Amino acid sequence: MDKRLLDILVCPICKSSLVHDADKNELICKADKLAYPIRDGIPVMLANEARSLDAPHNAA
Ligand SMILES: [Zn+2]
Repeated sequence: MDKRLLDILVCPICKSSLVHDADKNELICKADKLAYPIRDGIPVMLANEARSLDAPHNAA
């Protein structure tokens, strides 16, 4: 993913910067514990498309 693109992307909810998870191909907002999907190389910056990192199925 383009580093410069990542630099300008922020969480639509809290406006903080995001962390690129290359393995899962997601952009992580640590503050909100949300993961935004990247589809066909395009980040989907929509809160209702984001995956919650607190979801029960992710629990150890
Ligand atoms: Zn956020």
